[in-house]
Amino acid sequence: MKVSLQHLTKKFSSRGKNQDDVIAVNDFNFEIPDGQLIGLLGPSGCGKSTTLNLLSGLLKPTSGRIFFGEDDVTDLPAENRGVGLVFQNYALYPHLTVRKNILFPLQNLKGAAKLSKEEMDQRALAAAKLVQIDGLMDRKPNELSGGQQQRVAIARALVKMPRILLLDEPLSNLDARLRLQTREEIHRIQKETKITTIFVTHDQEEAMSISDLIVVMKDGNIQQIGKPQEVYDDPVNLFVAAFLGTPPINVFRGEVRQELLCIGQDAVLPVKGVKDQPVFAAIRPEGFVLDEDGPLRCRLGRVEVMGRDTNVVSTHPAMQGESVRSIVPSDSEVKVNGGEVRFSLRPHKVYLFDAQTEARIRFEEA
Ligand code: ADP
Ligand code: MG
Repeated sequence: MKVSLQHLTKKFSSRGKNQDDVIAVNDFNFEIPDGQLIGLLGPSGCGKSTTLNLLSGLLKPTSGRIFFGEDDVTDLPAENRGVGLVFQNYALYPHLTVRKNILFPLQNLKGAAKLSKEEMDQRALAAAKLVQIDGLMDRKPNELSGGQQQRVAIARALVKMPRILLLDEPLSNLDARLRLQTREEIHRIQKETKITTIFVTHDQEEAMSISDLIVVMKDGNIQQIGKPQEVYDDPVNLFVAAFLGTPPINVFRGEVRQELLCIGQDAVLPVKGVKDQPVFAAIRPEGFVLDEDGPLRCRLGRVEVMGRDTNVVSTHPAMQGESVRSIVPSDSEVKVNGGEVRFSLRPHKVYLFDAQTEARIRFEEA
């Protein structure tokens, strides 16, 4: 089921006199293609949960419309929208078994939707099998691990065969290993069921690894929508560039002079087509090449051998933030001269941004 958001806006009025209204979701316009998994990504407070709650019907928008396929669902109550919801804190009924937790949403179906006991049992078992907890049907939630509890919550969301599945930070309560495993599970389940799924997270790695498309948000505003790799490779502004990637992108204060990017006193890269101006120059860790004669000169801090790669940690006075993190192949030799390590740059891993607006400034590679 395709989902469209049209000028969707949610404003929360301030309660106190000295507080401003909050526009949690500001004029969202986008379409989620049928059968895809879309990641809503942004820092805490950027409006992810509000967007999800507008889609589920738990919140009413201030303005704008929501369509599921061709149906305008904006005024439809939550229970009639056919959405499955999964939250961070599982929200299982502690006194009910896994089976009864999964059955629960089916027991209140009315009229034509009402199911026989056999049909309900079959559906519950199918949902449990899909998330691989069919061996745990008679346990209570407190007899399950966090990962298993979250699977029960997912089975419960799937058992009604929702038109869309909404997941709000579903992995946040899990430890690192379970987080990885459960994220792969969610990916598999989504591909198997082909239910259009919206996955909310503040974790860029999670969103990048699982999503067909990501929507990067900040302060209630959409920054960029695209395939994860496209957004990583072609960020529209400094916020997006800095939000995606580990280690994070390295941001320098710089200046363009005569179509040359200058960092400190050194001209480090030709940037054809850019007029003279102050800029932020952001360089991905994989954009540095060790080069004894390279134009970018940093003070070596330490070298971290990580197996496949080596992290070279250095400092530079124009760097915004503590240290410059570059990743080089593990077989490279880090040549140091009087404490100085030098790099040349891969042009397609260097991004320029306006020093005021932080919008992307494009240049032609030499
Ligand atoms: P996220 O899920 O991305 O962390 P939320 O959607 O929960 O963000 O919140 C977005 C913004 O809206 C925040 O500034 C938050 O304080 C505000 N907000 C959320 N819910 C309410 C509410 N019920 N009343 C007032 N403000 C709210
Ligand atoms: Mg939230």
